[in-house]
Amino acid sequence: MDTLHFDVAVIGAGPGGYVAAIKASQMGKKVCLIEKGLLGGTCLNVGCIPTKTLISNAHVLHIVKNAAVFGIDIKGFDVDYSKSVKRKDEVIDKIRKGLEGLIKANQIEIIRGNAEFISNFEIKVKGEHPKMIKADKVIIASGSEPMKLSSIEPDHKMIFNSTSVLSMTELPKSMAIIGGGYIGCEFAALFKEYGVDVTIIEALDSIVQAQGKSVSEALTTAMNKRGVHIKLKQPLESYQKFDDHVVLKLADGTEIKAENVLVSVGRSVYTQGLGLEKTGIACGPRGEIMVNDHMETSVKGIYAIGDVTGKYMLAHVGSHQGVVAASCAAGKPTKMHYNAVPAVIFTDPEIGTIGMTLEAAQAEGYEAKVGKFPFQALGKSQAAMQTEGFAQIVVDAKTGKILGAQVVGHEASNLIAEIAIAIQNELTIECISETIHAHPTVAEAWHEAALMAQDMPIHMPPKNKK
Ligand SMILES: Cc1cc2nc3c(=O)[nH]c(=O)nc-3n(C[C@H](O)[C@H](O)[C@H](O)COP(=O)(O)OP(=O)(O)OC[C@H]3O[C@@H](n4cnc5c(N)ncnc54)[C@H](O)[C@@H]3O)c2cc1C
Repeated sequence: MDTLHFDVAVIGAGPGGYVAAIKASQMGKKVCLIEKGLLGGTCLNVGCIPTKTLISNAHVLHIVKNAAVFGIDIKGFDVDYSKSVKRKDEVIDKIRKGLEGLIKANQIEIIRGNAEFISNFEIKVKGEHPKMIKADKVIIASGSEPMKLSSIEPDHKMIFNSTSVLSMTELPKSMAIIGGGYIGCEFAALFKEYGVDVTIIEALDSIVQAQGKSVSEALTTAMNKRGVHIKLKQPLESYQKFDDHVVLKLADGTEIKAENVLVSVGRSVYTQGLGLEKTGIACGPRGEIMVNDHMETSVKGIYAIGDVTGKYMLAHVGSHQGVVAASCAAGKPTKMHYNAVPAVIFTDPEIGTIGMTLEAAQAEGYEAKVGKFPFQALGKSQAAMQTEGFAQIVVDAKTGKILGAQVVGHEASNLIAEIAIAIQNELTIECISETIHAHPTVAEAWHEAALMAQDMPIHMPPKNKK
């Protein structure tokens, strides 16, 4: 068996691992990237990109269905979901080829196979061409997998998880989605657009709870308006499979009949087969690899990044952690911070959040207030017939510091970037209101929300004046 030596060995080629490998290589290190599956990891193959490609298809369908409002009468169009799935696969393929080229252009050696620690800095790669790797520094980016629910087992024919549902080429008439987190809600919006009768079953008392009350309420209203049924505070008790449908029994005795079920209750960290027991790496209660601010594990010189650290479980966070870990591994210590982490949900309407909600800020002891502006009052939103939702900024009333923001509406995924820059750079609310925002754009919502937070609205009636 060949034994190879590298300055830095990275395990896992998802958005955490490949970014870390590129950064380490840029810093002059000899780097290998070990991957047992497909380059790009969950994000490219069964996560961000496939879902957003399918959702882009659904957007086109939405526009075609609603074209008459814009004076465009489209007569008789066919919808072939299998072609959407084919396009999704083509997009992934194209990006994966580009990624492989990028990795190679950075002189990173790609090693195919399953990496297993033999000792702290010795890794055996099992696969078609087994290898032994010795590395001065190791970065673990082994990711996550769909969380299992003890009360139901996906068979990937009628009952799916977020991975297997992506290969479905024909849509059912009805779909029950267990889990009202961001992944469940994105699939709900996608399937509903294609005419599937969707029911979300959520054990908590609201969907997308992590995003705060105002966002959760807005999305619930939007989903209800589109005909998505939502069952809250209803854990699944049991289920029964029939030839062509599944019956789910909920805690209150309600029975939901659906042709297909999607189990989407979150992600679990993935460390299977890594041989962590042969290292001194400490893990937390959920199996997550524990790291410090430098993304270093309990073993000096071994770093962990991305979903396997169980922190935000978002691609961009994993990539940023990758840059931090690689810099530290290459001898330029930097620290990871989570001051300004944007999160986006690609539902209809979209959602963007960052920093604190009003409730969280108040719970932290801030004298917090909110400036909230509805898209209904924006010219660009009216022109595009995208008037649903709002943009709101959470501000510390004493200092004017921006603490957080939530946006529900058209282009929310792009809009949130403005507030990410503001929070990252500790800007105050005046910085937003004094910035000229182009007209007519949806970004004007931030300008108006900032004015609202200072009780000086221009395009909304004043609060206390007659
Ligand atoms: C349906 C869905 C939609 C999502 N949408 C978004 C989104 O819109 N935005 C967003 O930010 N995030 C999204 N995510 C989350 C995002 O995909 C993850 O946060 C991200 O992929 C994590 O990156 P990672 O590098 O930590 O791990 P992963 O992307 O999971 O990659 C880990 C890689 O490590 C490999 N590996 C594991 N063990 C070994 C081993 N022992 N040897 C060799 N290789 C190994 C795996 O094969 C895998 O390729 C979504 C996830 C899902 C499931």
